Amino acid sequence: MSVISRRILVTGGAGFLGSHLCERLLDAGHDVLCLDNYFTGRRANVAHLLDNARFEVMRHDVTFPLYVEVDEIYNLACPASPVHYQHDPVQTTKTSVHGAINMLGLAKRLRAKILQASTSEVYGDPTIHPQTEAYWGNVNPIGFRSCYDEGKRCAETLFFDYYRQHRLRIKVARIFNTYGPRMHPQDGRVVSNFIMQALAGEPITIYGDGSQTRSFCFMSDLIEGLIGLMDTDDEVTGPMNLGNPVEMSIRELAEAVIELTESRSELIFQPLPHDDPVQRQPDIGLARKTIGWEPRVQLREGLTQTIAYFSALREEMRLSGRV
Ligand code: NAD
Ligand code: UDP
Ligand code: UDP
Repeated sequence: MSVISRRILVTGGAGFLGSHLCERLLDAGHDVLCLDNYFTGRRANVAHLLDNARFEVMRHDVTFPLYVEVDEIYNLACPASPVHYQHDPVQTTKTSVHGAINMLGLAKRLRAKILQASTSEVYGDPTIHPQTEAYWGNVNPIGFRSCYDEGKRCAETLFFDYYRQHRLRIKVARIFNTYGPRMHPQDGRVVSNFIMQALAGEPITIYGDGSQTRSFCFMSDLIEGLIGLMDTDDEVTGPMNLGNPVEMSIRELAEAVIELTESRSELIFQPLPHDDPVQRQPDIGLARKTIGWEPRVQLREGLTQTIAYFSALREEMRLSGRV
């Protein structure tokens, strides 16, 4: 099948998911403009793409207006881990809200299609299980996670108001916990923390008693889901859950990481952070029906690839004297 080449903007393109998305879009024959302010992203994540004549990188903060010419926009710019988004919470809200306004303004001027990387956090600490898109969520508006959760909720509001008011072509993806190579090693997220701790032979830090659950999606599955949603007809707007429905406890995840790394790390228990959701599992019926999407990569396979990435990164850090 021949592909019609499009000019595609990926904000947050030097981050974990953004860099994989840029790579996948280039592979499909598109022109990709990667935009990032390098708050949590790294140049190294996209360094291997710089030789590609269809690829361009731009340092820019989405809270400022942007005037470029593109056909499609994937808006991923936003710190995603609690440690990073709570570092400067006001900036986190600005990134989601002002960033959405600017990218929607850009899409409006260009009549471009625009996809928002929203999150399962819009469901907060959910009272229904698994979460469907029809659920309105249970979010604390004034807590430590609110800058992220409410910022993303407001971005969704803006997307739907631009859709209703200006007939923009919008797509909203609600992404559930996703992991894989190029995650930030110090982002404090559970998968990166556990693997880095296991590889270093340090204790594995379980917050609370480890009975809280999450559902972990491997990045390649997620990227296919984002592209599948972007490529739908104009009447499909989402919100659409994208995530892996296989739910597990954090303790089970710790045990799987210890086994796969053959680590001798012990488990230690630390206080549960504020407003930490008790359980989370996506209902992906809508994605299955609309875009025929389903995650394929099993947890053990995904963890093995992620462990290999972090092992190589540790070696790189050791050689450069950083560990
Ligand atoms: P990431 O931190 O690796 O990527 C975010 C990127 O955005 C980074 O490169 C960062 O430098 C950039 N950025 C941050 N603020 C910016 C700003 N003001 N201007 C320009 N660039 C900025 O995180 P990720 O896991 O790749 O997440 C990508 C997107 O997906 C985020 O919007 C996140 O909220 C969403 N998401 C991710 C997950 C997950 O589990 N990985 C789950 C739900 C939603
Ligand atoms: N904007 C941008 N690039 C564009 C067009 C708009 O960054 O190509 C920004 C601009 O900062 C503007 C925002 O998007 O404030 C919202 O644009 P919109 O046209 O919706 O609103 P208005 O310009 O009327 O405030
Ligand atoms: N978590 C943990 N140990 C860690 C990091 C996280 O037990 O070292 C827990 C955290 O409290 C939460 C779950 O793992 O219950 C997922 O945390 P993460 O920050 O990865 O994602 P989110 O809470 O945003 O889903």
